[in-house]
Amino acid sequence: MKLNELNNLTSSFGSTDLMPVLFVGHGSPMNAIVDNIFSRTWMELGKTLPKPEAILSISAHWETRGVFITAMKQPRTIHDFGGFPQELFNVQYPAPGSPELASETRSILKKAEAGLDQSWGLDHGTWSILKRMYPSADIPVIQLSLDYSQPARFHYDLGRELAPLRKKGVLIIGSGNMVHNLRMVAWDKLDEPGFGYDWAIEANEKMKRYILDGDYKALIDYRSQGKAFDLSIPTPEHFLPLLYTLALKEEKDQIEFFNDQAVAGSLSMTSLKINKG
Ligand code: ZN
Repeated sequence: MKLNELNNLTSSFGSTDLMPVLFVGHGSPMNAIVDNIFSRTWMELGKTLPKPEAILSISAHWETRGVFITAMKQPRTIHDFGGFPQELFNVQYPAPGSPELASETRSILKKAEAGLDQSWGLDHGTWSILKRMYPSADIPVIQLSLDYSQPARFHYDLGRELAPLRKKGVLIIGSGNMVHNLRMVAWDKLDEPGFGYDWAIEANEKMKRYILDGDYKALIDYRSQGKAFDLSIPTPEHFLPLLYTLALKEEKDQIEFFNDQAVAGSLSMTSLKINKG
């Protein structure tokens, strides 16, 4: 066996400059096909970020008991929603998977014995964004599930363990929404950009402040942050991907917000990019 073959066995992904990390507020799955300020920003991101060798997405829409990583060669496009136009159900995102990256990710995780999954695929938390960022679907994508049986601290700590992947050309994306209360959506205000309830704006601003101050403990303790947070995070799945992203910030890295806007009263699209310092 030649030396380079041996290297391929130990790690499939070469050493690269530190990749950025994203948290993306994905909002409505329609953002995958309608032209708006959010989808335009995603397109721009895809053009300006260093081209990743692979993408690891932590989506609000894959909750499991235990931690799983998609490990199939060709993940299916999952249309995990109802009541949207046929055009949205017709969308396919045929990016390849990466069994190699799945195994490598599994091997660096210590807090959890992650399972390699062959049945999930790419849910809309992942493909609605990637369809815009990388429309040619030529970059391998894997997903890491959210273990719903674990507390917020576990998710933050697990996110931290993904850090070595940033040096291997892997773009890590947390996909959720910082403020996300579907039961309180103001359907009549859908077309009024920037409309947010007072509590939604309050929580969004407070979250941004904690993020900029590096006070991640306050975010991990989101249940002790009062009424605005309780209304903004009625269930944790859209919030937790943010903790994975923040856990990957190195001391010198810079944080940049984008799409910082409320939608339909009870959602915020506020997103952030962590750039290497
Ligand atoms: Zn969602």
